[in-house]
Amino acid sequence: MAGEPQPDCLFCKIVAGDIPATVVRRTERVLAFRDIAPKAPVHVLVIPHVHYPNAAELAAAEPEIAGELLAEAGLVARDEGVEDYRLIFNTGTGAGQTVFHAHVHVLGGKPMTESMV
Ligand code: 5GP
Ligand code: ZN
Repeated sequence: MAGEPQPDCLFCKIVAGDIPATVVRRTERVLAFRDIAPKAPVHVLVIPHVHYPNAAELAAAEPEIAGELLAEAGLVARDEGVEDYRLIFNTGTGAGQTVFHAHVHVLGGKPMTESMV
């Protein structure tokens, strides 16, 4: 069924508590934890408990959870004390996605003035 945990998914294992993570926020539907290889002083991943391969598929299937994901990303930034931050949704291998469980990167704490868009 759509959204069900996938046995080989790293982030499903983190949601289940089978792989440890440094959790910074948790709700009934969303989990936020520090990236294991931070690219900025603040680098937190926000993920839904349910499994979808990317953020767009999550939003199409469960828009309320996608909305909560974004709201939680903002609360992570607030909790971490960063006013300016970047949200990144890598989608597809060619865009740098390596974990195929929807997630948003919250990056902050250093100037990020260069932009691709
Ligand atoms: P993606 O490249 O798919 O957008 O992002 C996946 C992120 O997951 C990467 O930034 C990577 O550093 C992070 N990551 C990979 N394995 C682990 C892990 O076991 N624990 C945590 N906390 N982060 C991980
Ligand atoms: Zn998963």
